[in-house]
Amino acid sequence: MTKTVLVTGVTGFIAGHVVHELLSRGYTVRGTVRSMAKAEKLKALYASLGHNPSNFELVALDLESDEGWAAAMADCIAVQHIASPFPMEEPDDKMALVPAAKGGALRVLNHARNAGVPKVVLTSSTVSITNGVKNTPDYVFTEADWSNTDADDIRAYALSKTLAEKAAWDDVEKHGGPILTVMNPSFVVGPLLDDTISTSGTLIKQFFDGKFPAVPELCFGIVDVRDVAKAHVNAMERDVANGKRYLLSAGTMKMIDIAETLRQAFPERGKKLPKFQSPAWLVRILSVFNKSVKGILPEVGRMYQVDGTRAREELDIDFITRKDALIALGNSLIERKMV
Ligand code: NDP
Repeated sequence: MTKTVLVTGVTGFIAGHVVHELLSRGYTVRGTVRSMAKAEKLKALYASLGHNPSNFELVALDLESDEGWAAAMADCIAVQHIASPFPMEEPDDKMALVPAAKGGALRVLNHARNAGVPKVVLTSSTVSITNGVKNTPDYVFTEADWSNTDADDIRAYALSKTLAEKAAWDDVEKHGGPILTVMNPSFVVGPLLDDTISTSGTLIKQFFDGKFPAVPELCFGIVDVRDVAKAHVNAMERDVANGKRYLLSAGTMKMIDIAETLRQAFPERGKKLPKFQSPAWLVRILSVFNKSVKGILPEVGRMYQVDGTRAREELDIDFITRKDALIALGNSLIERKMV
């Protein structure tokens, strides 16, 4: 009998790759969606990737409602809880994303516990590690660090991810099982399975579309979605990962260096890619008029390093280089005529 894994948010970019990895390793996947509108498209996608259609089923569930979760957990050997709101625009209300992010994580853990599901892998983020703190540019963030949720300038998305992850750890400590493992990926790029690109892919698409002649001095950790998917499944399979968080990143880059890497790889697209780094004073002035610029202000000029050693050593992730990950996304966007 094949082993069934519940994967939340299978309409998403990362979850799509996790499903592909699980099916490739012989698992049966029960995927959760908010609506069945994309059901046929998703089934056709995995069939086109060579997977047996009978190993992939879908259930409609919402992170903010208890309905249906108990039945969906039945007979599962693990849950990959990946769904969480990741909007392109910061909401006005800082707490707007918390009910789905934190409430969803607690709901998943509670139903997994009641159903006797032994393991949950939760997708958090490096924004649960690096945000709302002051650091020197050479500071290397590791799994020992936490974002400061009390910082006045922490952004809504980082707040939702940090509060959700903290609540998940507190929950398993207080109530016992399931075993929890947390993934903390940085900015995820890499190849597309279909036209699903997430907020990270959308930013790179906007680079190609010529939306930004100049970019602020922002620091990004970069990781390929194939490594993120492999890490999720290896963490599920390995006892060494029990009770631990894993920072997933091939290293950091400035936004302007991302653009330069893409320009060298795709010189025919060079004219539209960002060419300049905006000085901090200009970003500060623009932030008076533009809400999304205001949101990134605390991060402007803040450089840092990240350390993916634990994932390298314990999950066998030989990180795809930042350059190759960016080029893979660029190639997908071009091949699919999305830019
Ligand atoms: P996507 O936007 O592609 O996927 C998000 C998924 O979450 C979608 O399936 C979406 O469903 C689902 N979702 C959102 N809100 C709800 C809700 N209220 N109830 C049920 N489902 C919901 O993003 P990614 O694939 O990039 O992100 C997946 C996870 O990875 C998220 O937890 C994100 O925070 C995390 N992450 C992403 C990074 C990145 O750079 N991409 C970096 C680090 C972490 P629907 O299709 O219905 O909207």
